[in-house]
Amino acid sequence: MTAKILSGAEIAGAIKREVAEAIKELHEKYNFRPCLAVVRVGEDKASAVYVGNKVKTSEELGIISEHKHLSADVSQAELLRIVEELNNREDVDGILVQLPLPEQIDETAVLELINPEKDVDGFNPINVGRLSQGQFALAPCTPAGVIEILKRSNIEIAGKHAVIIGRSNIVGKPMAMLLLQENATVTICHSRTKNLAEIAGQADILVAAIGRAGFVRAEHIKQGATVIDVGINNVSDAAQAREFFDETEIEKRLKTIEKRGFTLVGDVNPKDARASAAYFTPVPGGVGLLTIAMLMKNTVEAAKKRRLRNGEPKTENENLNLSGRV
Ligand code: NAP
Repeated sequence: MTAKILSGAEIAGAIKREVAEAIKELHEKYNFRPCLAVVRVGEDKASAVYVGNKVKTSEELGIISEHKHLSADVSQAELLRIVEELNNREDVDGILVQLPLPEQIDETAVLELINPEKDVDGFNPINVGRLSQGQFALAPCTPAGVIEILKRSNIEIAGKHAVIIGRSNIVGKPMAMLLLQENATVTICHSRTKNLAEIAGQADILVAAIGRAGFVRAEHIKQGATVIDVGINNVSDAAQAREFFDETEIEKRLKTIEKRGFTLVGDVNPKDARASAAYFTPVPGGVGLLTIAMLMKNTVEAAKKRRLRNGEPKTENENLNLSGRV
């Protein structure tokens, strides 16, 4: 079996076009554009790239974006004050505080302060709770993107056995909730799971969110399964890269290692997935591209929900509580 590759670029492109269309309509009909505020703390290089991409995509789609870059030694009190200020601003629809945060900051306190109605990352406990109760919630972007990939590729979810490897708050757990909402039978595995290969090998839909290059091998994949690779890992060793890529791809990957010092590899061994799975998301070019598209979608959803009721602008005193305290 040679797996069909599910293109994140195509699906993310379609979502971004829909979002741009929705923003155009909001602007024409109600005379506003959604506004996304992104807060970055310190000089973490990966965070700088992620935030840069988020700001750029917002601008391309017509979202007003505001980027607050705070110094690495910002105090907890100052960061909380900035979040509170964004909570209270009528013109701000989405607030995202880029993780990770420096040691002196209590991440939980920051995420809990973000107004749930503006919590476009879906990490506030109110949204986590709403999601687990099956209510409307802003869902974390990466797992929400996985659902879009499955649905838009016409892969049946209801009644299927979905196995997720990884139980983090940003991927594994919300992924389980979203798949459950789509009526899958869900199993969550983690580092203490016994017989991992046996359990993963029963999955119709296997989602890998582990953080270990090429961890998922042939023995974890049922013939004909859909394999979704959330992992993003840097591989700089040519010999290791040869374990992951066949002759159609290895030369390109080795060149990338030579040029950039590393190549991106997911949590699934792509050689094995191609041989056993029916569908497979590549890395790069798969789930990763959906994350930003879903952030844009969440921002528009948040703006509509906060500003409109039954397709009409809310009156001033009808506006939702903006305190964000939970
Ligand atoms: P994380 O917080 O480190 O969680 C990793 C999970 O994998 C944990 O639940 C851990 O189990 C489990 N795990 C680790 N080693 C394992 C093993 N040997 N067997 C079974 N389970 C094991 O990571 P994350 O934030 O969820 O991210 C996972 C991957 O997705 C990373 O590669 C990350 O870069 C990528 N990611 C991609 C995107 C995107 O936009 N595409 C977004 C977020 C993350 P325990 O809980 O027992 O420790």
